[in-house]
Amino acid sequence: TLSAKNIHLSFGSNHVLRGIDLHVPQGTTASVIGPSGSGKSTLLRVMNRLIEPDQGDILLDGRSVLKDNPDELRRRIGMVFQQFNLFPHKTVAENVSLALRKLRKLSKEEARSDALEQLDLVGLKHKAESRPANLSGGQQQRVAIARALAMKPEVMFFDEATSALDPELVKGVLALMTDLAKGGMTMVVVTHEMGFSRNVSDAVTFMDAGVVVESGPPEQLFTEPRTDRLKGFLSDVL
Ligand code: ATP
Ligand code: MG
Repeated sequence: TLSAKNIHLSFGSNHVLRGIDLHVPQGTTASVIGPSGSGKSTLLRVMNRLIEPDQGDILLDGRSVLKDNPDELRRRIGMVFQQFNLFPHKTVAENVSLALRKLRKLSKEEARSDALEQLDLVGLKHKAESRPANLSGGQQQRVAIARALAMKPEVMFFDEATSALDPELVKGVLALMTDLAKGGMTMVVVTHEMGFSRNVSDAVTFMDAGVVVESGPPEQLFTEPRTDRLKGFLSDVL
């Protein structure tokens, strides 16, 4: 279970997060939706401590993590971005095994065998010796997901993981994310994919201008939005 409590963050005079609460029970998927600039990416970055909040707390399994070494938290939370950030000169297998050797301190052989196992799970074992540039965008993103999963994270964050993909490649990545969600992974998914938010996530959080405007089960938010802000957002994106 991951919780953010009353998170505040400013960049200079720009008060970007204004008291955000998010509660993600173990084994559930929370989707975070909202207009551009509302603070969604910043919230993920604060929750895995790429940025320190000005105020508030982050709890993993009921325990505050703000005093821990940030690297420790980043090992427990896997992150997948819009940009895949793969190393172009390394093979797919090396891309996945690198962090295993560095962070999980596995031997070269152990790291490779774990990497191949994860690649198999995302359907890309046959690409292990290819370079990222020789894969489609969707395949590259699945490699990035395999790389994050190989760290055996307790929680996975996705920030617009399908936004950079050509439409025909989105489906495969969403299918993989759906499998993960159904398999009991705890996930926070920032997305513009309203189908995923509505049909796969257990809870939806709608953010606007640094606050949570509405949150609850997908059925409630998508069929009975209570605020004009959510109604307006949904009419723009659906
Ligand atoms: P999008 O849907 O476009 O990805 P978002 O909801 O993820 O938007 P954020 O990227 O979290 O929005 O940005 C929220 C606000 O914080 C914006 O006003 C942005 O300009 C500002 N911001 C984000 N990162 C930084 C930074 N590193 N330095 C200064 N301001 C920043
Ligand atoms: Mg963003």
